[in-house]
Amino acid sequence: MDCIFCKIIKGEIPSTKVYEDKKMIIINDIAPQAAKHYLAIPKVHFANIVEMDKKQAKIVGKMLKTIGELADSLGLQDGFRIVSNKGENGCQSVGHLHIHILGGEKLSEKMG
Ligand code: AMP
Repeated sequence: MDCIFCKIIKGEIPSTKVYEDKKMIIINDIAPQAAKHYLAIPKVHFANIVEMDKKQAKIVGKMLKTIGELADSLGLQDGFRIVSNKGENGCQSVGHLHIHILGGEKLSEKMG
């Protein structure tokens, strides 16, 4: 499958991995939009939360828990924002679900 995040997970494309477990990786976003900008990516390929099945939803729940546990060590102790873009209006550019984690500074109050 021609998916950039699947290739990153397989190690075929380099990335700056800051965390990995059996079900997910967290990498630095290549084009950061905040002082800290990570991407949490499940190892299983599915496009977005509309496509996800119950098993995948469990993985995403676990991912959120892990992000919370790692927040301090990722330099996000003063707070952060998580975002998952979906489809054209959401400006999703990579069709493999991912959660943006933004922080490391005061973010804009405007989200749209
Ligand atoms: P989205 O537009 O929500 O689909 O987010 C895709 C994100 O992936 C963007 O923020 C890109 O900067 C990021 N991205 C694309 N290619 C890479 C890569 N090779 N390594 C790290 N981040 C990437």
